[in-house]
Amino acid sequence: MDSKRYRVGKKVNLSKLPTDDTGKLSREDSEAETLEIGLELAKLQDRLYAESKQSLLVVLQARDAGGKDGTVKHVFELINPQGVIVTNFKVPNEEDLKHDFLWRIHPHTPAAGMIAVFNRSYYEDVLVTRVHDLISDKEAEQRFKHIRHFEDLLASRGTRILKLYLHISSEEQRERLQERLDDPEKNWKFNPSDLKERARWPEYTSAYEDALSATSTDAAPWYVIPADHKWYRNRVIATLLLDTLREMNPQYPEPEFDLTNVAVGAI
Ligand code: ATP
Ligand code: MG
Repeated sequence: MDSKRYRVGKKVNLSKLPTDDTGKLSREDSEAETLEIGLELAKLQDRLYAESKQSLLVVLQARDAGGKDGTVKHVFELINPQGVIVTNFKVPNEEDLKHDFLWRIHPHTPAAGMIAVFNRSYYEDVLVTRVHDLISDKEAEQRFKHIRHFEDLLASRGTRILKLYLHISSEEQRERLQERLDDPEKNWKFNPSDLKERARWPEYTSAYEDALSATSTDAAPWYVIPADHKWYRNRVIATLLLDTLREMNPQYPEPEFDLTNVAVGAI
């Protein structure tokens, strides 16, 4: 699979991008493939960690019930938890709001050797804030510029950045939110404000289109991942991670001393 096919450029039109691709594979085959990719991912992650020079940042954005949590669960479970740090960004607190919008983000960017996953991110500061008119268009433009510079800064220090928008249809969101109401084990996930946000579907679409168009750069490209089918979403993301880690090509470090005549004796 060509994982780069879902990469977007400078003019994003979400209505033209698929939410329900399946790659013509059955669910069963797709899931088996994802597990197989996972074995390879784990090996590359081991090298990334051992090399301790480069790092990977995966930014996950989606509408409510878009599948961010499911992606973390099903794709990143394939990797050694020691090398992955997931950060969930919620509504900024009082202290956060006394600083610039990137202040609370920077400490969570990945150290050399690590993979960081952002479950929501600084992109909320140009999405939900715009939909609710908390910032003007001019402020949004300034923030896009700050984001591009911030991502350039991370890239210049050896951080690869993958930004994934999990693209679901409004019907798929309706079904998933309804499921949270109907299934007692999912009730805890239901948040009445999700319905208010859902009512602003078109405003979110245009905020996402603006943000993706303004910030999909070579250093930090956006991918619009078809996400109506969870198993296909997982497979695309696993493939994208695999291709990215292969390109990064991390190497085990050379031993710092001569090991040829060293052996571990019995005690
Ligand atoms: P799920 O999709 O499973 O519901 P979630 O990511 O929506 O998970 P919640 O705790 O329901 O988790 O919601 C987090 C909320 O925090 C979202 O409504 C999001 O828009 C909001 N949020 C995150 N960052 C910011 C920000 N910078 N400014 C304003 N709101 C933010
Ligand atoms: Mg929510």
